Amino acid sequence: MKLRFLITSLTSCTGCITALISLDIFPQFLERTKIEHFPFIFDNLNIKECDIALVEGCVSEKNQIKYLHEIRKNAKKLYAFGTCAAFGGILSLSNKKEAYPISKFVDVDGVIPGCPPPAILLGNCLLKLVENKKLKLNLKNMCSTCPLSNQVPLGLSLTIKKIKPRNDEIQFPEENLSCFLNDEILCLGPVTRDGCDHLCIHYGLPCEGCLGPVSKDFTSNFINFLSLFNLSKDLRKYKGIYNRFSKSLLGGKI
Ligand code: SF4
Ligand code: SF4
Repeated sequence: MKLRFLITSLTSCTGCITALISLDIFPQFLERTKIEHFPFIFDNLNIKECDIALVEGCVSEKNQIKYLHEIRKNAKKLYAFGTCAAFGGILSLSNKKEAYPISKFVDVDGVIPGCPPPAILLGNCLLKLVENKKLKLNLKNMCSTCPLSNQVPLGLSLTIKKIKPRNDEIQFPEENLSCFLNDEILCLGPVTRDGCDHLCIHYGLPCEGCLGPVSKDFTSNFINFLSLFNLSKDLRKYKGIYNRFSKSLLGGKI
């Protein structure tokens, strides 16, 4: 029997849903499932009972809480789809708007992380969901498979001055075999879950942490990690690195 899906968005850029419908396997996904609610592509706005709900985006408006509860009531399983839904995401950087992961308001059965989730990770998650199996995310950190990992500085007490290189400083791994930490650039690979094939690093940018914490002890791991460095004054004030990818662990139910 086909599983019934509900796929919807809260506050988002719809990048995760765009990633979903761009997948090679999306037509097969549609064939193998029954879509009960998907406002992005279908007109029917009624929430119906379903086996699996995928919710993209963070909660930033009161009326979304009611919508979310309604979804939870009707879904056997509910997954946070993408980094905004799972951890708060990009809107958490705002001083003017509140942004929360969905797990602050409802129980979730798992997360599909990424901003947006990388195609391979998302495809694998969908296959598991269609077969009604549990999602299994990578348990290792980003450094464990990073092409620059043999250059991770071991004698620490390095100075870290920047969160990314300037445009004219960007070098690709094949040109620059040095871990970003050696270049005074913060890379969150050591505390971030592996699973994106190092997309940012291949584009010459450090890991920002969008796949989320590799451990539930993220806050203490993260503070321990940062305490290894002499952080520049600007970086010490920059709260975005805490807010975007850790809200579920600071206040939510996952
Ligand atoms: S996780 Fe990223 S891609 Fe997905 S809705 Fe949020 S900002 Fe957009
Ligand atoms: S800190 Fe970043 S650049 Fe260095 S090995 Fe880890 S993921 Fe790669």
